[in-house]
Amino acid sequence: MTDTTTRSAFPVGTIIGYPRIGRRRELKKAVEAFWAGSTTADELEATAAELRASTRERLAALGLGRDDAAIPESFSFYDQVLDAAVTVGAIPSRFAGLAATDGSVDLAGYFTIARGEGEKAPLEMTKWFDSNYHYLVPEIGPETDFRLASDRIVREFEEARAAGFVTRPAIVGPVTFLLLSKPSDEAPEGFRPLSRLGDLLPVYRELLARLAAAGAPWVQLDEPALVSESIEEPRTEVLEAARAAYAELGGAAERPAIFVAAPYGSLDDALPVLAVSPVEAISLDLVKGAVPAGLDAATRSALAGKTLVGGVIDGHNIWRGDLEAAFGKLTELLSLSPDVAVSTSTSLQHVPHDVDDEPDLDARLKTWLAFADQKVGQVAVLARGIVDGHEAIQDELTAATAALADRASAPGVRVEAVRSREAALTRADFRRGEYGARQAAQDEALHLPFLPTTTIGSFPQTADIRRSRAQLAKGVIDEAEYLGRMQAEIKRVVDLQEEIGLDVIVHGEPERNDMVQYFAENLDGFAVTQNGWVQSYGSRCTRPSILWGDVSRPKPITVDWSTYTQTLTEKPVKGMLTGPVTILAWSFVRDDQPLGETARQVALALRDEIADLEAAGIRVVQVDEPALRELLPLKRADQADYLEWSVGSFRLATSGVADATQIHTHLCYSEFGVVIDAIRNLDADVTSIEAARSRMEVVHDIQRSGFEHGIGPGVYDIHSPRVPSVAEVTELLETALSAIPGRQLWVNPDCGLKTRGYDETVASLRNIIAATRDVRERV
Ligand code: GLN
Ligand code: ZN
Repeated sequence: MTDTTTRSAFPVGTIIGYPRIGRRRELKKAVEAFWAGSTTADELEATAAELRASTRERLAALGLGRDDAAIPESFSFYDQVLDAAVTVGAIPSRFAGLAATDGSVDLAGYFTIARGEGEKAPLEMTKWFDSNYHYLVPEIGPETDFRLASDRIVREFEEARAAGFVTRPAIVGPVTFLLLSKPSDEAPEGFRPLSRLGDLLPVYRELLARLAAAGAPWVQLDEPALVSESIEEPRTEVLEAARAAYAELGGAAERPAIFVAAPYGSLDDALPVLAVSPVEAISLDLVKGAVPAGLDAATRSALAGKTLVGGVIDGHNIWRGDLEAAFGKLTELLSLSPDVAVSTSTSLQHVPHDVDDEPDLDARLKTWLAFADQKVGQVAVLARGIVDGHEAIQDELTAATAALADRASAPGVRVEAVRSREAALTRADFRRGEYGARQAAQDEALHLPFLPTTTIGSFPQTADIRRSRAQLAKGVIDEAEYLGRMQAEIKRVVDLQEEIGLDVIVHGEPERNDMVQYFAENLDGFAVTQNGWVQSYGSRCTRPSILWGDVSRPKPITVDWSTYTQTLTEKPVKGMLTGPVTILAWSFVRDDQPLGETARQVALALRDEIADLEAAGIRVVQVDEPALRELLPLKRADQADYLEWSVGSFRLATSGVADATQIHTHLCYSEFGVVIDAIRNLDADVTSIEAARSRMEVVHDIQRSGFEHGIGPGVYDIHSPRVPSVAEVTELLETALSAIPGRQLWVNPDCGLKTRGYDETVASLRNIIAATRDVRERV
């Protein structure tokens, strides 16, 4: 197999990965049914196998080869990084009991590692590069017993084979796997997971040998960490790891041809390293990066012998895009190697399945879009162009260019009133009064106790609530009936918070299907989809809206809900809005103007909403920006510009209020250190962040940073069904108080409660209040 002359050629057209959740979220439903105990593992396996089978058939029908390894096996029950962890036997010691003697875990065990159980916390979850997908962070220590503990990936290849396909197994590569891992609980101070590379590689070698034996001509190893500058390891070590890993894996006698996929950015100085390694194919993200230029002679001559896979179709957005330009990049790539293939820039897991599955979407808008299936079609067109020449695909290229032109001139894409308002902004529109004066005015207006308690906004979205929303959409109930039901729900939630003893009250967000879509539905310039789901983590999916035109607010959105809520309680009610950055991050955003410009349009709409809330007597307004960190560009050179417009748009939205009005923000992660300056620059009065999951580690970053405004590090991990005990919350609060002055500290959960059930929510909130009272008395 090592003789390159006997290797099968890389397919001319391919994709890095495909959505796995299913066109109708079949996987989500099947997985959740299994969790609920209403189906067996065998039934779940059968559903998953059906999904994989229909995906292969679909991809072949869309133009990918059936038998040339063009179709990647990119299925996962929960997460691809967790898959890699269980494949190599990297099970944290607290879950060791789940593994059989050969190191394997069954499906139930796999999900337990992902979701936690009892006192055992799940693997930490964090953002996957610059997407809003979240992966589980493996825990690696000197004790991690690497071995090939699962042959699932081999079995999936064989399953495909039995159905008449030769597919391409895909797995997270060894370097990325270790770079994304964190030290285990047992690891000594200063331990680096990457130091275990030498022990991990034999497992990958064994896996490759198994795949070769099963007849796999190609394997895909995903190495996105090679393009990222947000990796903590020094770059020289990353490059050395890549060199060592691919020298070792490439040198194996029994292996498929190796395709290293490097999505989410340009490889830069990692390209020469891969070029001289024995791998056969390398992908280049030509959406994020350009065709490499200025390469040294050794790299050029090495690359000339590889398949270069041009990621020219954007795996990240839903625009049909400029196909002519994409083909141009492939032509450019031919200057580096005669052997060029076309692919998506990233896995298509970030986009929905099919534009043709959207009967209610505006017909004209649809011609500007490409979801996963349309992008696979585009790959197939460009592959034909590579083989048969530009002429052969002229019609398709022309049609894509015409769609772009139509989009540029369509009504609503540019609205003069929106543009002139944005153009007239001055520095003063981005500034609030001095913090000290605000603090005094807010103390006076709000009379909050020491360690004020609040929640992040949503309460559990019960089946009743969802049913009411569905009934309204179907016309089964009218607006008045819907309003009545939602108000009853709000009253219940307010009474509950009063009874539990929370200080700042929320309305619970029952009227919101989703924190972004709700605003998208109420703002001009957006469209929403019916089936456009994308996986966010595990079984969780979101349905991003499409921001296609200039944004404005035809009328107030949340004001009636908030004022109704305030009539139910003497305590301050917190108005709840989603911030401009998050609205952009969780939508598919127009790509025809700088993001900053679009963000300011959204910010102005929110600024008007906040002014209306304030005028209606709402004294606290939270503007959620959980995605602030998420959109941060991977390349340092791009970060300053991003922070300028993202922070600027938040300030534009929130700085129109009086000193006495308290602005909160909420961020969904705990890597505070990375964006501390940005968070400070938001100039919010109170910031709530995630902290429970990482056991309050973040408070030390906060302390070091000298952050002086209100801060609520979460004390309840809402990603897990576990109820934190009073003792646990007390301990978290004490840890927080050891680092942060009590005057600044707020008490709240990690995030909204909408995905939780009532029983666990109520129990958890009661424990939080009991712990707070206890700490208040003692401090
Ligand atoms: N206010 C939102 C909620 O509570 C915030 C959600 C989020 O940060 N993702 O649901
Ligand atoms: Zn959150």
